[in-house]
Amino acid sequence: MVAMADKSKPKKLVIVFVIFIIVFAISIISKSFINDNTTNDGNDNNDERNPDETLQDEGHPVYDDVIWPVNNYTLADPFGWRWHNNRWDFHRAIDLRAEEGEPIYAIAPGRVDRTASEDDPDDGFSNGGNVVIIEHFTDPDTPFTFHGYEQTRYYSVNLHMQDFLVQEGDEVEQGQLIGHVGHAGTASTDHNHFEIRVVCRHSWDGPGDDLPSECDIMGVNADPHVNPLRFLPYDDKDIMEAEIISNDPLTVEVRNHFTETDFNSIKIDDEEVVNWDERVGINPSDRDDNPYNGLYVEADKFTAGTEWYVVRFEFQNKVYTGQKIEVLDIWGKGITL
Ligand SMILES: [Zn+2]
Repeated sequence: MVAMADKSKPKKLVIVFVIFIIVFAISIISKSFINDNTTNDGNDNNDERNPDETLQDEGHPVYDDVIWPVNNYTLADPFGWRWHNNRWDFHRAIDLRAEEGEPIYAIAPGRVDRTASEDDPDDGFSNGGNVVIIEHFTDPDTPFTFHGYEQTRYYSVNLHMQDFLVQEGDEVEQGQLIGHVGHAGTASTDHNHFEIRVVCRHSWDGPGDDLPSECDIMGVNADPHVNPLRFLPYDDKDIMEAEIISNDPLTVEVRNHFTETDFNSIKIDDEEVVNWDERVGINPSDRDDNPYNGLYVEADKFTAGTEWYVVRFEFQNKVYTGQKIEVLDIWGKGITL
């Protein structure tokens, strides 16, 4: 009896210890669920995000602690393919739906490189109405890579503004009010069509475009538009989903949650067959040409309030026979199918 009592004492201690561990684990798990819900509920309002936390915790490069241009918005169109005005359109921006008159801020310190007014239809930006383009530089210690080259210069581009409050050449502070959300130009709703162009502010739509020499510093005439989420802070939870939905032809469906529309590329057996930022798999002469070169891309309708941005990539000349298929975000993180 005595021997048994002696044995039961350490047993009790072990049980108490196990219970303590379980309670501790449950408290951590439930806490993280509560945090997730809070963040998801607040996604229309960027005020609830913490740029420092999201950028640094996720290991993204920190670009001068960039902020979002509009606080109270709903994502109305992500960067990528969409069906728009009865044709396929590779949308090289994010559209932030907001009330008319909502403030638009400079995302980082910079210099106003270009403005355009809807009153001047000959200025080359008539579709965009009132436009402000600001030149920024990253910290030289944290350059970004584009087409394999390290760069520090990028531009933020705002279209369809109700008005703008800065002039070309103005130095602006981060968070400075530069204008207001509107629907000037060809916009049918009030929104900020927001672009990031890297290296060069000029738009390149295909061979034949005569770009100024400053755009050629990489040795490539590349379309400078990239997914703005490469620069804007967001809560990156790696919740992208992907699956093979057809073997013949090989068709991959990718689902991006509206809080992180950061899909960028697909590799098949290590060969990059899609790269949205660098336009792999997209006709260089006509970016809206779909299907192109045996790849048909279909995107479900996305509008303000849609939860998932769903895109299907149909490789019309490929059959799935067990190849390694990687679906990656703008940071090179993702899913292997
Ligand atoms: Zn747009």
